[in-house]
Amino acid sequence: MKRNACKKCKRMIGSETKCEHCMGEYGSESWQGRVYINSTTASIIAETLNITEKGEYAIKVR
Ligand SMILES: [Zn+2]
Repeated sequence: MKRNACKKCKRMIGSETKCEHCMGEYGSESWQGRVYINSTTASIIAETLNITEKGEYAIKVR
């Protein structure tokens, strides 16, 4: 199944192009890597990607 990631916040947003979090059409099919952040306080990945909320994210979105 095709999935999109938000160019702005890097969240995985399914097959839609609209990100519910950013309230805009930021969906992109060009993303690489996928991480699930379940703790933002002790995660180096979350810190590196500037993620402040739990969830599924893409590492790179173009
Ligand atoms: Zn977003």
